[in-house]
Amino acid sequence: MSDYDVIVIGAGAAGLAAGEALAQAGVSFAVLEAKDRVGGRAWTDERIFPGIPFDRGCHWMHSASHNPFREIADRLGVDYRRLGTRRSSGLYLAGEKADAATTRTAWDAVEAAFAAADGAGEAGRDVDAQSVCDTAGPWWPLARHWMTLLSALPPEEISTLDLAAYADTGENWPVVSGYGALIASAGAQVPVHLGVEVRAIDRSTSPIRVETSRGTLRARSVILTVSTNVLASGAIRFVPALPDAVTDAAANCPTGVAEKVAFLLDAPIPDFADTSYIDTLDLDDRTRAPINFVVNHFAQPVIVGQLCGETARKLEADGEPAMVDFGLAALKDVFGSAIATRIRRATATHWTSDPHIRGAYSCARPGHAGARATLRVPIDGGVFLAGEAVSEHAFSTAHGARRSGIDAARAALAQSG
Ligand SMILES: Cc1cc2nc3c(=O)[nH]c(=O)nc-3n(C[C@H](O)[C@H](O)[C@H](O)COP(=O)(O)OP(=O)(O)OC[C@H]3O[C@@H](n4cnc5c(N)ncnc54)[C@H](O)[C@@H]3O)c2cc1C
Repeated sequence: MSDYDVIVIGAGAAGLAAGEALAQAGVSFAVLEAKDRVGGRAWTDERIFPGIPFDRGCHWMHSASHNPFREIADRLGVDYRRLGTRRSSGLYLAGEKADAATTRTAWDAVEAAFAAADGAGEAGRDVDAQSVCDTAGPWWPLARHWMTLLSALPPEEISTLDLAAYADTGENWPVVSGYGALIASAGAQVPVHLGVEVRAIDRSTSPIRVETSRGTLRARSVILTVSTNVLASGAIRFVPALPDAVTDAAANCPTGVAEKVAFLLDAPIPDFADTSYIDTLDLDDRTRAPINFVVNHFAQPVIVGQLCGETARKLEADGEPAMVDFGLAALKDVFGSAIATRIRRATATHWTSDPHIRGAYSCARPGHAGARATLRVPIDGGVFLAGEAVSEHAFSTAHGARRSGIDAARAALAQSG
C-alpha cells in the first residue's frame, strides 16, 4: 500500500497534463493508466501504415491559435498545416462531382444549420438542435452528417445551449507527425504506471483508497479523467456511490460515436491536392449515410474516412470488414471500382467498443447543458473529475482535456493546502 498526495486515473491528454502540473508543484503523485500506452483517445498509430503516422483519435488542433498544444508544437518543432474550416473542396453526389456552385450551396446549408443551432443556444435556449434547423431542404442529410460528426450525437440529441458554449476560431490545424504523438511528447516527462486498471475508489476513508488490478493505493485526492461513458458504466465502483447529480450529468452528457476508416493506396490520387477534404452522399438513397474523406493525407497515399452517429455505431458493432466495405463503396463511387485494386491496407477504429473509452467525445443532451458544470464540482472526499467532458468551452477536444487536467491538479493542490 503506497500513499500519495494525488492519484491521477487515466493518462490521456487530461491525465498527462494533470501529471505535469503535479510534478511542477513537487507533490507526490501516481498516474494510473489501464492501457499499455499513454494518450487515451490521442493515439498516433505508427505501425498500421509503415512510415506514415495515422491518428486513430484526435487529429486537428482545433482553435489552433488559442490551443496550448499548438504552442507546445512550436516549442518542440513539430510541423502542422494551417488549415481553416473543413468545408470540403469536392462534393460527390452518388459519385458525380457536383459543380462549384452546387458545392457552395450545399456547404452554405451545412453552415446555416450550425448557425441556427448556435443562434438558439446563444439566445439561451436548451433545445434539440434538429428542431431549429431546416430539415426539409435537400442538403439536410449533409448538414446532419456534419452536426453528428462534430458532436458525436445526432442533431436531435444535441443541446443547442451546449453547442453554443463551444469556442471555435475556425482554425483546424492537423499535425503532420500525429496529434497523438504530440500529446505523448508533451507529457513525456510524466511517469505513468501502464496496465493498471482502477476498479474502485473508496472515499469513505481518509486517505482515499484506490483499488486497482495491481493492488490498493492511497491518496489524499484523486483526479479521475475517464470518459463520461466509462464513468456511467459502473466499471469503477465508488464507495460511497457517486452523488446522483454526478451520475445523471454523466448519463446526460454521453460520449457519442465517431470512428475512422482508413486506406493505404499504392500511390497518392492524381489530380487531388495534398490533404483534400471531400464529402460523398447519395441524395436519391436516403438509407445510405454520407461519409467524408481526407484524400492524399499530407501528400501520402492515404485516404481517411469519418463515420459517425448510428451509422458508425452499427458498422463498428458489425466489425472492421463492415466499416471498410462501407468506406470502400463510397470511394468506388468517386474514383471508380478500380480503386479497390490499389488498396494495400485498410484499417478502422474501435473507440465505441473499447472498454476504457466507450465512445468518441461528449455532447450534452437537450435540456442538460448544465451537465458539464455539475461534473466540474469537486466530489466530497477529494475526487476531482477532469477530461474533455468537463471543459466549459473546449469540450470534445484534446486541448479542452489538457486544460481540465491542469485545472483539476490546481484544485487538488489547493485542497491539500
Ligand atoms: C475518432 C476521434 C476523433 C477525434 N478528433 C479530434 C480532433 O481532431 N481534435 C481534437 O481536439 N479532439 C479530437 N477528438 C477528441 C479527443 O481525442 C479527446 O477529447 C481527448 O483526447 C480526450 O482526452 P481525455 O484525457 O479527456 O480522455 P481519454 O483520452 O479518454 O483518457 C482517459 C484515459 O483513462 C483510461 N482509463 C479508462 N478507464 C480506466 C481505469 N478503470 N483505470 C485506469 N485508466 C482508465 C483510458 O484508457 C484513457 O487513457 C477525437 C476523438 C476521437 C475518438
